[in-house]
Amino acid sequence: MKSYVTNGMLIDGTGAPARPLHWLELDGERIGEICAGDGPVKPLPPGARIACDASGRTVMPGLVDAHCHISYGVARGIEEQDLFGSAEYRAIRGVYHARTVLQAGVTSFSDPGGSWYVGVAVRDAVKAGLFPGPRISAAARYLSTHVSLTDYFPSWVGTPRSGVGVLTEGASQMANEVRDQIKNGVDFIKIAASGESSILTPGGGSVPAFGAAEMKVIVDEAHRLGKRVTAHARSGQSVMDCIEAGIDWIMHADFMDRQQADRLAESGIPCCPALTFTANIADWGHIAGCSPSRIDRFKRDLDKAVTNLTYAHRNGVQMMCGTDSGFAVTPYGEWHARELELFVTLLGMSPLEAITCGTKNASITVDGANTGTLEKGKFADLLVVDGDPLADIRILQDKSRLAAIYLGGKPVDQTPQPPMQRWPWERSLQISERELSQPAVRAAMANQ
Ligand SMILES: [Zn+2]
Repeated sequence: MKSYVTNGMLIDGTGAPARPLHWLELDGERIGEICAGDGPVKPLPPGARIACDASGRTVMPGLVDAHCHISYGVARGIEEQDLFGSAEYRAIRGVYHARTVLQAGVTSFSDPGGSWYVGVAVRDAVKAGLFPGPRISAAARYLSTHVSLTDYFPSWVGTPRSGVGVLTEGASQMANEVRDQIKNGVDFIKIAASGESSILTPGGGSVPAFGAAEMKVIVDEAHRLGKRVTAHARSGQSVMDCIEAGIDWIMHADFMDRQQADRLAESGIPCCPALTFTANIADWGHIAGCSPSRIDRFKRDLDKAVTNLTYAHRNGVQMMCGTDSGFAVTPYGEWHARELELFVTLLGMSPLEAITCGTKNASITVDGANTGTLEKGKFADLLVVDGDPLADIRILQDKSRLAAIYLGGKPVDQTPQPPMQRWPWERSLQISERELSQPAVRAAMANQ
C-alpha cells in the first residue's frame, strides 16, 4: 500500500541542493515517485494516504554511521572491551543498543570489528524481525599481528579468544581466518593494519602492523569469496600499504603526509576518519574521567588529524562519517551526528557536503545500492527533521528534533528505552586512577 510524505524541504543525500518537497511516495518498504523542486507540481492521486505532513521541516535520508562497534557495550577500557562479559550477554546487550542507535536517526551502520560474532548475530536478529534496529553490515574479530592494535596484552597473556582481535601469523593463517569468518557470516573483513599507540614510528602515528604483501593475501582471498575489506590504518605508511593491497575503504588515516594523501585521493579509496572519538576525549574527556595525559595526547592527535584530513578532503579524498561508537566516551545513540558537525567545523565542509558524507558516502560500507539517498527504488529510510540542518548541522544531534524516523517505509517507535543497568562484573579490575602519594593527600587536604 502506498502512502506519502508531503511538503517541507528535501535534502536527498546525493549532494544536490535542498529543494521544496511536494510529495515522496512510500511504496511498501521502498521509495516510489518523488515530486520536488520548482517545476510543475504533479497532483497526488485521489484518496492518497498521507503518512506524514513535513511542512516547515526537512526530509532527508536516515544517517549512516560507517563505524559503530555494537559488541563493545559502552566499554570504559580495553579489559571491558576484551575480557568481561560473555558472548551471550554481549549479543543480547547488542540488540538493546541497536535500537538506541536507530532512535538517534541512524538507519544503517557498519560494525568494523568486535568480539565473537556478536555483530553478525545482532544483524541477523534485527533482519529476522526479532528486534528493532538499523540495517547492519558486520565484520568480526580484526585480523591482527603482534604489533597491531587489538594485541593489547603482554605476550605471556596472549590474545584472548574473547578479544576483538585474532592473531594471524603468516599468510596461511590470514587466508584461513578470512575463510572462517566468511563461513560464519561476516559481511566484510577488518584488518588491524596499524599498531597500538605505544609503539610509534619516527614520523608519528603507530607502526604499520602488516606488510602490503600480507594484506594483499587477505584482500585477495576476501575478494575471491565476494567480500570486502577495511582496515584501521593511522600512519601514512600503513595507508600506502592498504592502497597497494587494494583495500575497499580505510579507517582513520590521520597521520598521512600530503604526498600520501594525494595517493589516497588518486586511488579513489574512501576514508572514514572517525573524528568523534578523538574529539570527544579532547573536548570532554575530563567529564568522563579520562586522565589529563590522555586528554593532552588526544588534543595533539586531533590537531594533526585536522591538518592532514583537511588537506586530504580538499584534494579529493572521499570522506565518510563514522564515530567509533561503543565506548563509554562514545555511547550508542548519543554522538552519531556529531561527526557531521566536526566535518563542518574542523574539515571546513559545508553542511550539505557533511550530510552527503553521513548518508550517501557512508552507505557504501553497508548497502550503497539500496540506501544512503532518497531516490526511487531505494529503501524508504528517512528522517523528518524539525528545522534546517543546513542552517545548523548540530540539530541532527538533538533527538527531540527528529519528528519522525522511517525505516523501510515504516515509522520507528521513538519511545526511549529504559536505561541499562551495569553489572559489577562488567568492570575492569582497576582500583584507582591515580597514585595516592602523601603529597597528593596533603594537597587535597590543603584545598578543603
Ligand atoms: Zn573502531
